[in-house]
Amino acid sequence: MSVIGIDLGNESCYVAVAKAGGIETIANDYSLRATPACVAFSGKNRVLGVAAKNQQVTNMANTIYGFKRLLGRKYRDPQVTFEQKHLPYEMVEMEGGSLGIKVRYLDEEHIFTPEQCLAMLFTKLKDISETALQTPVKDCVISVPAYFTIKERQAILDAAAIADLNVLSLLNETTATTLAYGIYKQDLPLPEEKPRNVVFVDCGQSSLQVSICAFNKGKLAMLSCAFDPNLGGRNIDFALAEHFKHEFIKKYKIDASQNPRAYIRLLAEAEKLKKQMSVNSTTLPLNIECFMNDKDVHGEMKRVDMEEMCRDFFEKIKLVLEECLAKSGLKKEDIQSVEIVGGSTRIPAIKNIIKDVFGCTPSTTLNQDEAVSRGCALQCAILSPAVRVKDFGVSDVINYPISIDVTDSIGGRVTDSMILYEVNCKFPLSRKITLKRSDAFEIRAHYANPVPYMDQEIGKWIIRNVKPTADGRDQVVMVTFSMNVNGILDIKRATVDSTEIVESEPMEEDKSAEENAEQQPPADANSAAAPPPEENKEKKKKPTKKVIHLTVDAINPLGLSVDKMNDRREKEGQMRANDKQEKERVDARNALEEYVYELRNKLSSHEELALYATEAVRENLIKTLDQMETWLYEEGEDCQKQIYKDKLNDLKIQGDPIEKRRIEYERLPVMIEEFRRVL
Ligand code: ATP
Ligand code: MG
Repeated sequence: MSVIGIDLGNESCYVAVAKAGGIETIANDYSLRATPACVAFSGKNRVLGVAAKNQQVTNMANTIYGFKRLLGRKYRDPQVTFEQKHLPYEMVEMEGGSLGIKVRYLDEEHIFTPEQCLAMLFTKLKDISETALQTPVKDCVISVPAYFTIKERQAILDAAAIADLNVLSLLNETTATTLAYGIYKQDLPLPEEKPRNVVFVDCGQSSLQVSICAFNKGKLAMLSCAFDPNLGGRNIDFALAEHFKHEFIKKYKIDASQNPRAYIRLLAEAEKLKKQMSVNSTTLPLNIECFMNDKDVHGEMKRVDMEEMCRDFFEKIKLVLEECLAKSGLKKEDIQSVEIVGGSTRIPAIKNIIKDVFGCTPSTTLNQDEAVSRGCALQCAILSPAVRVKDFGVSDVINYPISIDVTDSIGGRVTDSMILYEVNCKFPLSRKITLKRSDAFEIRAHYANPVPYMDQEIGKWIIRNVKPTADGRDQVVMVTFSMNVNGILDIKRATVDSTEIVESEPMEEDKSAEENAEQQPPADANSAAAPPPEENKEKKKKPTKKVIHLTVDAINPLGLSVDKMNDRREKEGQMRANDKQEKERVDARNALEEYVYELRNKLSSHEELALYATEAVRENLIKTLDQMETWLYEEGEDCQKQIYKDKLNDLKIQGDPIEKRRIEYERLPVMIEEFRRVL
């Protein structure tokens, strides 16, 4: 069983695996290392990955991509509205305001959620890996943008579960990159020496992420992180497409915005032009044949014109880089190197900005496209006992501070508010708070500062079974939160140290890795009721003290309900089985077609089979093959697998004896020689 690392990009995905000899990137069914994050639907099956992207222009309404940015979001989310403008498929509002994607599949209308679409892509990546590695694949580490909120992370976990993948850990893309860098660097300063400060800039198709880390041999400290979820290479494609759209309206009187297929082609050509501009500063052409109304169009542009046109975009990139440097507390001179990853860091203007802000020429020590997947594969190796890797301490950090509000009763007023997790806090990590309560109460968690997500809410819990002590005083309630390895927040338990309100049986305390990292909330939090350290020490001295677990009810818990998950898994299983069946059917048809052509060619050639059948048999068989060819393109175009198989067998009954005669004839000299030797 292999463990894979997946870089889930908005445009393309990479899969890597840790083996005894190092990290390997897995090539897909088209022998490509990048698999487009794209799924499509047809009357017969689903089309996934490269094949989906290849048929996009002819099946636009049923080709789904860009769903990484729709995960966990509601239909009316402004981000969804923004994406909708660029995506040619239909989105609909579903029960509870959730987002659905409407497609025609198997000649019927179907609505899938973005999580289901992602699950389809995961199914493809799993298949690719199993074929390449020739072993079952279940465990994986998946990258997530550092700016993903808890709900978006949960959506990825749901999608993985639908695709029958077991996520050992989600890993921030920034962390994956630093891991890929740090683990192989031989020349890092010793632990007691001054660390090497390295900046990582990842600019992909849709977003920008920057982090600054301090490296010593065997460890790293994340100093700062900054990002913009909406600054990526596609911004330039949009700008170029808009420019040429206006130019073509003037020049050719055709408006690409009126024709989604033309616009998609224009965007694809704009992207090509952008890539050419990265290596060429002269005037470059953009030509599209039969663009609209049978008209060919032509445009041209120079790199400097693009840079001028996208000045705001580059300015925003600069601001994010400067923000990261400011947050790290370092000066430009303290930075030893800048490593760039992500396709858009190939753009010369972005490289220049990086040089300007950090004072270093960007270096490409890392594989620009594969660093994130390699980092994920390394994390797999660290987490799994099967492969031995150097010990390199790396943990994810929280990018958004999390606060909680606590009420005095269910639906009551908020009496305590505090920051539970500060920014840059490493996780997994548990936090314990102490409250004085005499009634059941609510805890609501939310982001302390605005996040790039529609709502700031994270979760709501009700802590039940709380009653006053026998003498009418408040109980001391301890609530332990956990931020798990995937960056998901939950309440691990709520307890009281009293035996007076026994309603549930005392339970054994579990000791997990997170618990070992258990901490009190930061000192500056408004945690007036936090117990003094001595009290903790005292508790440790008296391990026999009874701990009563209170009931914790999560309201609208994150993730799919068991019923929904089972339903989605079942549907995915059916679609997968259908794809397999369809593939076998098409393969059977192709095998028959191939046999028809091959045998007919051989029967026509003296060097092949012409001499091994009588003229009458040969002519008859060629006639049968001609008829079979016609049948394949007419009524036999779309038959069941078995029909093709039966027809192939029938042909082989006639063709095989001729082939056999040839083999026997060719073996004749050898047989005569053997016979002579025996005599
Ligand atoms: P994201 O990280 O935003 O989720 P992703 O990981 O799929 O997306 P990448 O594969 O890192 O994105 O980068 C893809 C982007 O890089 C595309 O916008 C592509 O046009 C751009 N790109 C690739 N090569 C070049 C190049 N030579 N010059 C300019 N842009 C390029
Ligand atoms: Mg990326």
